[in-house]
This record gives sequence, C-alpha cells and structure tokens, in this order.
Amino acid sequence: MNEATYHNELLKCNRCGACKELCPTYLTTLNETMGARGRIAMLGELEEKQLVPTKKLAEKIFSCMLCGACRDLCPTGINIPEVIYQGRARLKNLFGRGLLLRTALRYSVPRTDNVFSILKKMQKLFYQPLYNRGVLPYIPEITSEPFKNSFQVYKKFKRLSRIAIFSGCSVNYLYPDLGKALSRILLSKGFEVIVFKGELCCGAPLRSAGLEDEAVSLAKRNIEHFSKVRAEAIISMCPTCTMVIREHYSGISNNTISNFMDINEFFIKYDIAKDLEISPAVITYHDPCHLNHGLKIKNEPRQILKDIKGVEFIEMQHAGECCGFAGSFSLHFKDISKNIGRKKIHNIADTMADTVVTSCPGCIMQLEGLKRETNMKLNIKHIIEVVDEAMRTAVE
Ligand code: SF4
Ligand code: SF4
Repeated sequence: MNEATYHNELLKCNRCGACKELCPTYLTTLNETMGARGRIAMLGELEEKQLVPTKKLAEKIFSCMLCGACRDLCPTGINIPEVIYQGRARLKNLFGRGLLLRTALRYSVPRTDNVFSILKKMQKLFYQPLYNRGVLPYIPEITSEPFKNSFQVYKKFKRLSRIAIFSGCSVNYLYPDLGKALSRILLSKGFEVIVFKGELCCGAPLRSAGLEDEAVSLAKRNIEHFSKVRAEAIISMCPTCTMVIREHYSGISNNTISNFMDINEFFIKYDIAKDLEISPAVITYHDPCHLNHGLKIKNEPRQILKDIKGVEFIEMQHAGECCGFAGSFSLHFKDISKNIGRKKIHNIADTMADTVVTSCPGCIMQLEGLKRETNMKLNIKHIIEVVDEAMRTAVE
C-alpha cells in the first residue's frame, strides 16, 4: 500500500463503529482506543497531524490482533488489518515492548534452524520457572529435528500428482508430527510429496512487528524459491502462512504463489476424508481467524469432520471468535490474550465435546495453555491428526 492509498483508506472512515462489533480486543476491554474504530481514527488523526506519535498510541496500534474480524464489517470497504500493518511500520520504533522481538526477528528469520537450536537449549534451562511464574505462555518442546529437514522427496512409482508441503515455522520447530501426519495422508492417497529444506518463514511475524521491508524481501525469496517447483499444489497446515502468501504477497511484492492451498480446501478438492471412520468421538470445531476471516474457509473443515464416520459434531457458540493467541500478541498483551482465551474455553466446555479440532498450530498452542490452566479434560487436535488417525484405522 503506497502513501496515497494509505492516506485515502484512512479518509474513508466515517466513524460509524460497525467494525467494533466483532473486535475481540474492544469486546474484552470496552475501551475505544483498543478497538477497530479507535485505531483507524487514531491513525487518521496522526496522518492529518492532529495527533503526534507517542508510545501510548503505538501501543494501541500494536494491541490489534490482526484477526481480520473487522474487515468485512466496514461499509466503506477499508481493509482495516492492512491499514494497521501500515500504521505499525510507521510507529514500530515507538513500541518499546516490541524492541526485543523486532531485534530477534531481524536476526533470526533468515536463519531459523540456528536460532531454534539455541532456543531449544534455552528452553531446557529457563522455560519452566518462567512458565510457572506466568511470565511466558505455554510453548511445546522445541524439536531437535525440524520437519523440513527430516526428508525431501517421497516418490511414488505410480503417482497421482506431485504435492509440495510448506511447513511453516510452527510445524517445523514445534509440531513436526503434524507434518509427518500430512505426509502419511498424501502418500497413502498416491501423491508424490516434496518438502523443502530451503523453505523460509512466510513473513507474518515480520509484518506483525512492523518490519515491512524485511517481509517484502522474504516474500520475494519464497516466491522465487517456489516458482522453481513443479507441483500441482503447495499446501500448508498453517492458515497464517496461507493467508500471508496468498493474500498479502501480491500487495507487498506484486507477485504471488498461485497454486498455494490450505489443507482443508485440498482435502475437500480430493475427497480425502471420504469413507473414513474413527472411534466414536464428540467433536467441536474452533475457527482460526486467518482461515475464517482471512481466507473465508469455514464450511470445509466442518464438512471434512462430518464426513468421517464415528464423529458426532457439535457446533460451539461463537466458534468464529478468536482464541486469543495472535502470535506475539499473546506475549505482549498476556492478560487480554488469556481473557479472550478463557471465553473460548467456556464455549468449548459448554458443548460437552471430548475433542476440539482446529486447523492452526498457533490455536492449538493457545488452547493447550488454557487447558493446562483450567485442568480441563479435553483432546485438542489439528484436523490433520483426525484424518491421519482415521486413515490409519482404515489400514489396520
Ligand atoms: S483485526 Fe481484529 S483486533 Fe484488530 S481491529 Fe480488527 S477486529 Fe480488532
Ligand atoms: S466500520 Fe469502517 S467506516 Fe465504520 S468506523 Fe470502522 S473503519 Fe470507520
């Protein structure tokens, strides 16, 4: 978004307040400056020089979860999350709490393997006491074998087609078993599977931290990398990666990866969950914000789950409301993150389901942390795990 477009987007706001209706940070704090309208108004007044940039103002702009719940509510069509990204790029140096993370991201994103291996050692030494004192949220154990390094190509003699997996940082370093489960699913359906050692972060954490130039350079490198791949589809288990690559890359780098897909779309397109069965389970589904609001994928995961025999599906209240994770938001705004998450846990508990399924590794991390806090008995699964389990049951 160039200067003129940014300026014009802000001018379009008529202060109607429609965008506040689903804004989780507003609904949790009931503070106008913590809501969509307040943020757009502040950025507009900053642009008109009626406000001066301050640390407090930067804090309000960085307190947005970038969930996108406000986007379709705006009658004048302002792309609110995109305007917030642009606002952050302008205000980043005033957001003091984000300084450490910005510095770390600048250094770590181009060399994630090295950084996660250092983090793994630090996690062993320092994490538990900090978690016990509530300083850090729940983080699963960092793996010593990133998924993308575990294998490169699984060839099939008679292949249906070739599919490339974009693992994303959370699957690579925190949830490699999800990557392995997806590989098993694809291989058992007759696809050739490729995983890239050279895959880079999608750039979402950089954009979120206001580091637009760095995100653009990463986008260009990923586009160049994946343009060399001859695959029917490149699929991802993380909706944030999918949204950023599919929806943001064209805006920030004038290019995109056109055959990039979310796994739910892919599973529906290829009838992956057809004729599958699992042991009886009562399941409810939590919509990840970037899948639901960002990519408008809402029915597909429900369809997949309902197609599996043995699943009793129960819809929870407000399934589309955020779980409170939002990446670095859960570190910088811990109390709001937990308050939003507790509401989600209540809605899950009200269904009496034994399992909550979602399609995002970040949501799994947040729900796992909340489950531990409340000592709740609940299975938390990525949709890939349910499909993988059903496929393995079918083989046995
Ligand atoms: S993206 Fe989410 S948190 Fe941010 S202003 Fe919009 S609704 Fe509120
Ligand atoms: S819905 Fe759009 S026009 Fe209305 S206050 Fe929000 S940003 Fe402004």
